[in-house]
Amino acid sequence: MSTQCRFCNKDIPFGVNGNRRYCDEDCYNYAKLERTKDKYANNKITLAEINRSENLLKAFYNIYGDKPFDINILRSEKMNWNIRTDSKVLDGINYQIVGLYGYTAFQNKTIQIVKF
Ligand SMILES: [Zn+2]
Repeated sequence: MSTQCRFCNKDIPFGVNGNRRYCDEDCYNYAKLERTKDKYANNKITLAEINRSENLLKAFYNIYGDKPFDINILRSEKMNWNIRTDSKVLDGINYQIVGLYGYTAFQNKTIQIVKF
C-alpha cells in the first residue's frame, strides 16, 4: 500500500513515516505556499466585496437617508447579501452591518439603511 504526495502526486513509500502526505520537505513547503496564496486571494475577494457592498449602501444612504425604499433597487445593483462585518440591534431592529452602514429588510419589500 502506498499513498501519493498531495503536491506532486508521486508515490510515497508506505511505512517510512506513518501517515506522510508529502514526499519531501520541498513538496510540503510548496503546498503550504499554495494554500497561503489561495487564502490571500480569498481574503482579497472578500475585502473587495465588502468595499463594493459598503459603497452601494453609502450611495443609497446618500439618496434616501434612513427612509425605507424598494429593496429591488439595491437588488438590481447586485448587492451581496452574504457580506456583513457585524450585526447590531437598534430600537429592536436587527441591522446587518457592512463597514459604517447597516441595513434591514422589511416585510413590505423595502430596505432601510442606517449609518452607524
Ligand atoms: Zn511530492
